[in-house]
Amino acid sequence: MNESVKMSRHDHPTAPGDLALVHAFLNTTIAASARERFDTPDRMQDWLAKRSLMPSTAPISPGEFETVLTLRNALRALLASSDDQVRRKQLDMINSIVERAPLIVRFDDPGTPRLLPGQSGISGAIAQILTAIIAGQADGAWSRMKLCRNPECQRVFYDTSKNHSAVWCSSRQCGNRMAARAYRARQGAGTGQ
Ligand SMILES: [Zn+2]
Repeated sequence: MNESVKMSRHDHPTAPGDLALVHAFLNTTIAASARERFDTPDRMQDWLAKRSLMPSTAPISPGEFETVLTLRNALRALLASSDDQVRRKQLDMINSIVERAPLIVRFDDPGTPRLLPGQSGISGAIAQILTAIIAGQADGAWSRMKLCRNPECQRVFYDTSKNHSAVWCSSRQCGNRMAARAYRARQGAGTGQ
């Protein structure tokens, strides 16, 4: 799998196949660049329409805007936490949203079953994100999606390490920075961090 890994323009590996879309969705907010691409319903609609997840003519209501933000943030929190209670809370949140974005099975010409959105609009967009996650779960790629442990970064990254053990999006950047910070804290110069 590693041979075919694509790199983002920030020199981070991009998740393979349709999971690349989910990867980009989850990184529409990044602490490292103080970025929030979904700062208004219009900007969210524009992002989703550009990726053919919904028609460019369908406006997003304030409620739908909040739903997508909640889903994105809960998925990010799920990737970040190994605490059972935190995970349970995020899973409940995610499940309450995805139950309103139904998927249907459709057989295409050679007889291959495919998962497709059952509705259009925002629930169709959410359903397409879900199908990409399900496909990523099936081929093992979803379990390589992680949130960088550097609190100043918080980028979702695709872990290409052999044993799935990476905790930083980049050991050269975030890994070294966090090691330096831990060192300063041990020296008594980094209190309050
Ligand atoms: Zn990072």
